[in-house]
Amino acid sequence: MGCPRYDFHIHTKYLGCANSTMEVPAIVEECRRLGATKIGITDHLNSLDKLEFHLHIRRDIEELEDIGVAVYFGVELNFTGCDGEFAFSRRIKEEYGFQFAIGGIHSTYLEEYDVRKLVEVQHRHHIRTCQDPLVQVLVHPYWFSKGEFDRNGWPWFNFMRVVPESYVRELGQASRETGTAIEINGTANLMNPNFGEDYFKEYKDFLSILAEEGAMFSLGSDAHDIGHLKAVREVWRVVEELGIPEDRIWSPGCGPMAGR
Ligand SMILES: [Zn+2]
Ligand SMILES: [Zn+2]
Repeated sequence: MGCPRYDFHIHTKYLGCANSTMEVPAIVEECRRLGATKIGITDHLNSLDKLEFHLHIRRDIEELEDIGVAVYFGVELNFTGCDGEFAFSRRIKEEYGFQFAIGGIHSTYLEEYDVRKLVEVQHRHHIRTCQDPLVQVLVHPYWFSKGEFDRNGWPWFNFMRVVPESYVRELGQASRETGTAIEINGTANLMNPNFGEDYFKEYKDFLSILAEEGAMFSLGSDAHDIGHLKAVREVWRVVEELGIPEDRIWSPGCGPMAGR
């Protein structure tokens, strides 16, 4: 049984986040070469003043021709602050034509280092994300920005064993109950050079427990450079290694914006 060849987390140059190699036609071509059958472009929406930039992405997807990959138009959401909301609404989704939203926490929201508090804040936001009816995918659980830790002089988060198993089971159950997929992310988690072998091994144990609880999963490279799209192959490999069945792999419930 093979893993579906999907990548539903890809950035572009249009929002200034990914580099200039990440133009829609080049992304699609590289994904096709890698063997992907369905992909989603998901640039950041951290604040509403950036909304108009997403229309460039949409236009480029609509202009794609003869591509052999199903391409969806999505968006990645971030909290506006600790316990803040996502900068998103049903009206924005409809007006801009976003076909799906992925989202999650992108900061520790800590002023002082405390590993128990760190994990608790992440967990709370993971559960909130699962419960948000406008978000279909919880992105990169237990990814952290190395820069944030370095700036503060905190010990780096390089292990998953500090996450209580009860949290992991609760997250898996939240996914099963809400249908929100938990992302398996190539560049942020599985292949992030800031993490080490212990983290990678423990991360797979984390995914196994989520799977035991009946979680849904989404697959994504989170590429910001054309050369990083291939990280999704490690995601596909891990899905096969863990024996996660095909019917637990999420894709949008609608048809693509381009391709088939
Ligand atoms: Zn992210
Ligand atoms: Zn991202």
